[in-house]
Amino acid sequence: MHNHPDAKAVIRTLAPDEPVILNRPHAAARAARFFVEKFPGRSLYAVKANPSPELLQVLWVNGVTHYDVASIAEVRLTRQALPEAELCFMHPVKTARAIREAYFEYGVKTFTLDTPEELEKILAATAAENGEAAEDLRLLVRLRVSSEYSELSLASKFGIELADAAPLLQAARQHCDWLGVCFHVGSQAMSPFAYVQALDRVRAAIAEASVVIDMVDVGGGFPSVYPGMEPPPLEDFFAIIAKHFEALPIAYNAELWCEPGRAMCAEYSSLIVRVEKRRDTELYINDGAYGALFDAAHVDWRFPVAALEDDLRDPLLEFAFYGPTCDDADYMKGPFLLPGDIRAGDYIEIGMLGAYGAAMKTGFNGFGDAEQVVVDDEPMASLYRGDRQRLESDNVVNLR
Ligand SMILES: *Cc1c(COP(=O)(O)O)cnc(C)c1O
Repeated sequence: MHNHPDAKAVIRTLAPDEPVILNRPHAAARAARFFVEKFPGRSLYAVKANPSPELLQVLWVNGVTHYDVASIAEVRLTRQALPEAELCFMHPVKTARAIREAYFEYGVKTFTLDTPEELEKILAATAAENGEAAEDLRLLVRLRVSSEYSELSLASKFGIELADAAPLLQAARQHCDWLGVCFHVGSQAMSPFAYVQALDRVRAAIAEASVVIDMVDVGGGFPSVYPGMEPPPLEDFFAIIAKHFEALPIAYNAELWCEPGRAMCAEYSSLIVRVEKRRDTELYINDGAYGALFDAAHVDWRFPVAALEDDLRDPLLEFAFYGPTCDDADYMKGPFLLPGDIRAGDYIEIGMLGAYGAAMKTGFNGFGDAEQVVVDDEPMASLYRGDRQRLESDNVVNLR
């Protein structure tokens, strides 16, 4: 399969009836190298953000050796794509069968938990047939932290409360040689202070439990760039995390981990859609809430857009999108800024969809097919290019 130069070349060549996902391996490679070289510890990749085997391969080749998997299906597919990768089962609620299969068939040793019940489940599922306990478990206790600096909260579902953490840390310590603490500040954290607050909580938990901690995992949440969401440089996040990590009461050789999803793959993909109908300032496009634009519909995420036709002359107008299914909820309010004379038949590129975009596609209502091609041009915005381009006038992008 040959590469295309950019989205315009793709529509000229394919005139696609269905949405097309444009992948940029060079952008994912750059993000992976950035984390591997600059994060002051180990960078895992959180597979759920985009489980594409091609992407996993790019990350592996660029130095990402450890992968955060959350289901047995992610364990299997990551092992299939990357036979040598280290897999870490980071979902705090797993089935006994999934734990058993991961441990015995896929060599997974690292498991997260946030309750005494999950600890018991992990111990039982990894014990030998004669009842002997596993001796090589690496356990992480997930602490509940605030999501107040993040665009998408992950604070309500998982993580043990600080007040209850000490007994769980002490219990876990008795069953493993290597004990870690992890948390997740929520996705798209817009301030490094999110990690300061969380690490303060880690410090309090460790102090109260008085156990030796071998590893601290600051989770995901590292931001990407979207219209209206211009985060500080990732280097600022890394510097603050390093400083607060070093001040923790932990083993002298304790490791620091992070597990970005979004930041490692947001720039990997964009999407070409076609306008099928226009009604005033509403554009009916061929992808939507049940496709790669789940976040645009459900949490009003404003992805950058660019019209791909050369003959559009009118000033920009604010548009909303309808997706292709028959459901009223298949609606993305935007606003998305596009030339005022855009019309049915015109193509649009929607950027920064490598994370939680392609991964969310369903086949609902018979829509969901999308060809994938590789393009050579730059993503609409990048945190990793050194010459960070500001997104122009909210969500218009004009780099070409
Ligand atoms: C989703 C998730 C991540 C990745 O989060 P991002 O915000 O995409 O960086 C990392 N760790 C865990 C446990 C997760 O559930």
